[in-house]
Amino acid sequence: MRKRIKIVQQLLQKKGLYDGNIDGIAGPITMRALAGIDGINSSLPKTRQITTYIQIAANERNIDVGPIDGLWGPKTSAAFNELTYQLKYGTPQPPWRPDEIVIANPHQWPVQRTAEFNSFFGERGSQLILIDLPYEMKLSWDLRTKTRRTRCHARVADSLQRVLQKVKEIYGEDNISSLHLDHFGGCYDDRPIRNGSLPSMHSWGIALDFDPTRNELNWGRDRAALAHPDYYDWWNCWEEEGWISLGRKRNFDWMHVQAARLPE
Ligand SMILES: [Zn+2]
Repeated sequence: MRKRIKIVQQLLQKKGLYDGNIDGIAGPITMRALAGIDGINSSLPKTRQITTYIQIAANERNIDVGPIDGLWGPKTSAAFNELTYQLKYGTPQPPWRPDEIVIANPHQWPVQRTAEFNSFFGERGSQLILIDLPYEMKLSWDLRTKTRRTRCHARVADSLQRVLQKVKEIYGEDNISSLHLDHFGGCYDDRPIRNGSLPSMHSWGIALDFDPTRNELNWGRDRAALAHPDYYDWWNCWEEEGWISLGRKRNFDWMHVQAARLPE
C-alpha cells in the first residue's frame, strides 16, 4: 500500500496539487490533494480513492487499466507496474516476452548444434584469437584480478568488440562498474553445459558470462540482476549485433550471451 500511495503522491506533485513529503502515508495533505481530482469520490474509503486515482493516471497515459472503479484487480496491478516504470524512466516499458523480442541477425549467426553451425565455427577450440577489451574487466570469481583481454572465436571478434565499445559509450566507466558490467565470468572454456552433457557454446569461444553471482543459472527475471530495466541498453547493444541472451529468450542463465541462435 505504501508504494501505491507514494506513486499517487508523485503524480499529484507533478500536477502541482501536492507539496508534502513522498512518504507513502495517506494523511490529510494527500487526501485533500486527491479531492481536487475529477472523478475521485471523497466519501469512499481511502484505499479505494488511492486505487481510483492510480486508474485515472494510467488511463491518462493510455495504459490499459479496465474500468475505473477503485478496485484492485490484475489489470490495475499490471497498469500500476507500467505506470511505475514510466514515472521512473520516462518511457513505456519495452517488451520482455520472448516471442515479442525480435533479434536481427546481421552477421548470420547460425542456429546452435546444427550442421550449419559446425561449418560456420568449425571444431571446438579452433580459430581462437586473443582480443583487447574496450574497458577493463575483473574476473567474477576473483575480483582482484583485472583483465583487458579475452580469447574468443575469430569470427565473432569484431562484433564482440563493437558491442563492448558501444556499452562503454552508452554507460560510461562509472556505470559499467556500479552495474557490474565489468564482472566477467569468462568466454572460451571447453566444457559441457551446466547440468547437462552437451558441449557449451563457451567451447567455441562464442559465448560470454557476466556478473554470475547476481545472475545464477536457474534464476528468472524476478531475481536476476541483468533482467532489470537498467540493463535494457546493455541487451540492446548485444541484440543489435545478433547475439542471443538466454535470459531474454529463455528466462534462465541471465549471465550468458552467445553468438548463436536458438532453435525456434
Ligand atoms: Zn555462459
